[in-house]
Amino acid sequence: MTDAAALPGQPRGGVLSGPATARAVNVLAPNPSAMTLDGTNTWILSEPGSDLAVVVDPGPLDEGHLRHVVATAERTGKRVALTLLTHGHPDHAAGAARFAELTGTRVRALDPALRLGDEGLAAGDVITTGGLELRIVPTPGHTADSLSFHLPADQAVLTGDTVLGRGTTVVAHPDGRLGDYLDSLRRLRSLTVDDGVHTVLPGHGPVLEDAQGVVEYYLAHRAHRLAQVETAVEDGYRTPGQVVAHVYADVVRPGCVRVSASAWRGVPRPGGSPRGPPGAASRAGRSPPVPC
Ligand SMILES: [Zn+2]
Repeated sequence: MTDAAALPGQPRGGVLSGPATARAVNVLAPNPSAMTLDGTNTWILSEPGSDLAVVVDPGPLDEGHLRHVVATAERTGKRVALTLLTHGHPDHAAGAARFAELTGTRVRALDPALRLGDEGLAAGDVITTGGLELRIVPTPGHTADSLSFHLPADQAVLTGDTVLGRGTTVVAHPDGRLGDYLDSLRRLRSLTVDDGVHTVLPGHGPVLEDAQGVVEYYLAHRAHRLAQVETAVEDGYRTPGQVVAHVYADVVRPGCVRVSASAWRGVPRPGGSPRGPPGAASRAGRSPPVPC
């Protein structure tokens, strides 16, 4: 994690639950921790005037939270018609099957193992539910299966754990790759430049109103870390574990060395190819996010 005060576009002072844009309402899950910040943001999306809603990331398997999400939608006359997942980490997805049972909906995700029903999600897909349009944006890096959802009518993007509302995120063991993550940040930056996206609806933490500034900050943070790695190698640190322990000495958090040493395998060498192929998502192997 980095200094929260340095993150651009954070005007809402930690106000999390409730309406964020014309089409997005957050229901904060009761799972706060060092890993999940205030808890997981479960997003209810709906076109104004429509009686259908899409829920992104039902969150942990917490019966009270899942029922609260359903009740929040129903209180405004909405019926949940579809459930989507930004990725498979349990703080986002563990409640999906139960939520689907409560609402009678399908679950769509990039990873086939997370789906309920026969429809997945892929780059370029456009979901239209009750007049609400969502465009699927692949943003691997935090995990191999990470997606973002572009909500063009609100000039907003739901980023899951790819961009958080506070601090920076982790490229997670076992399948996160930093090279992929940098490409994904650039993809999000082009959304802000070319498509006018200004609002980030993150998977954790408050809504951000300066999407371009936040993405630029994330890219600068990673460039700074890469420069530190190059210096560490020049200074004689040889193994990934030695380099990570040195570079991340300011981040005292168990698990970071293992997580980060894995993640660096995806970093392209100057003028060369990545150090290793992205790993396939594995349900059994998933770890919760560890901010580093
Ligand atoms: Zn995650």
